[in-house]
Amino acid sequence: MSGYDKITPPKTGEKITKDDSGKNIVPDKPIIPYIAGDGIGPEIMDAMKKVVDAAVKKAYNGKKEIIWFEIFAGDKARKIYAAEYSDEQLSELDPAVLRDLYLPKDTLNAIVDHVIAIKGPLTTPIGGGFRSLNVAIRQKLDLYSCIRPAKHIKGVPAPVKHPENVNMVIFRENIEDVYSGIEFEPESADAKKLITFLNDKLGKNITMESGIGIKPMSWANTSRLVRMAINYAFEKGFDKVTLVHKGNIMKFTEGKFKDWGYKLAAEEFADSVITEKEVYDKFDGKIPEGKVMISDRIADSMFQQILLRPAEYGVLALPNLNGDYISDALAAQVGGLGFAPGANVGDKAAVFEATHGTAPKHAGLNKVNPGSVIYSAIMMLDYMDWTEAAEIINSGVEKAIAQRKVTYDIARQLSDVEPIGTSEFAEAIITNL
Ligand code: NAD
Repeated sequence: MSGYDKITPPKTGEKITKDDSGKNIVPDKPIIPYIAGDGIGPEIMDAMKKVVDAAVKKAYNGKKEIIWFEIFAGDKARKIYAAEYSDEQLSELDPAVLRDLYLPKDTLNAIVDHVIAIKGPLTTPIGGGFRSLNVAIRQKLDLYSCIRPAKHIKGVPAPVKHPENVNMVIFRENIEDVYSGIEFEPESADAKKLITFLNDKLGKNITMESGIGIKPMSWANTSRLVRMAINYAFEKGFDKVTLVHKGNIMKFTEGKFKDWGYKLAAEEFADSVITEKEVYDKFDGKIPEGKVMISDRIADSMFQQILLRPAEYGVLALPNLNGDYISDALAAQVGGLGFAPGANVGDKAAVFEATHGTAPKHAGLNKVNPGSVIYSAIMMLDYMDWTEAAEIINSGVEKAIAQRKVTYDIARQLSDVEPIGTSEFAEAIITNL
């Protein structure tokens, strides 16, 4: 008995677990669940698994091996968990029931049971009853931190003169802010009820026909995000953590994000984290050896800073919406979403994922760039402490790009380069491992 309804874990391999301090304990043959995803998902995931398998084999001479375990979400889950429903019947279901068919409990349980998982992109299903499967995964598993590194890969064409100056890692709050899904349609009874309350009881003056969205932000969610960002900075040798917010306008949400970020740093990292003000007042603008400097920037100014002074930033901690915008801007700055990796990390589980969508018009053509999910797998290997395998893939990708073996999205930005397919790009990386 596996405890799952329609999935069967592999017979070989062992589960990754966590020790009391939350550190991962990774066996030599860990079982890693994966969601192939929709659209281009299956082909990029296939390419990623081949590259990862080859790199792990090479790095550890066959001593270590990932045992992949397919779990389901999106269209594939619908085929398995909702085969008996027509499109029409599905669109009439209660949103929570519909979500359980596209994102089955089996899938969520398997991720928590195995601690680490990786996924391809997912389509937001028909019916419109809920917003996004990705947001649902993050919220259901309390994956409170979305981590997105932005670093230029040598040879990838970029729109700025010095993309190599970008080496930032974004920690985006993943649970609350305007993504908490509390919205009321214009003219709906609930919107009107809320507007009447705000106008009559709290003295506001909102037009009755407005749509309303709620933006909750809390100490609980901010502090654990900033804690993870600071710990990451120490672990990976960054000396700066910047809180990016719009607190000059939204004082009790984004402004509090900033205040709470500083409070957390002062309370839990008093010996090792120093404010920007102290660095300038006491240390002549130079961060003392071994310390991490915490600073803050207003979000709009930060969009200028990443373009004009990227080398001055390292780890960024942001509320949900700012983090969403700035991670795409940074990905574009270093050459586009085709190579942008991402991870959603909580205390109990982590899900690594391609950051782009399902690109349905390219699906099944063996055409798109698997770089985003391959770099997400590099992050995953790093998170597992299998850094040797991660480094091998990194240099394999760089070599393939230097040989101008690239998919169409990169080839079209270079002159005289014939694009290769998704699986050929994976082969080119493997040859260069
Ligand atoms: P998209 O990212 O799927 O595609 C936009 C365009 O980007 C594509 O037409 C293609 O030209 C390019 N592109 C994307 N990935 C590429 C790759 N790997 N290689 C080369 N080119 C690539 O965005 P969209 O069209 O807005 O969304 C399509 C679907 O994906 C929607 O259903 C949306 O909800 C979903 N989506 C899912 C995720 C996720 O699962 N994390 C993220 C975004 C969108």
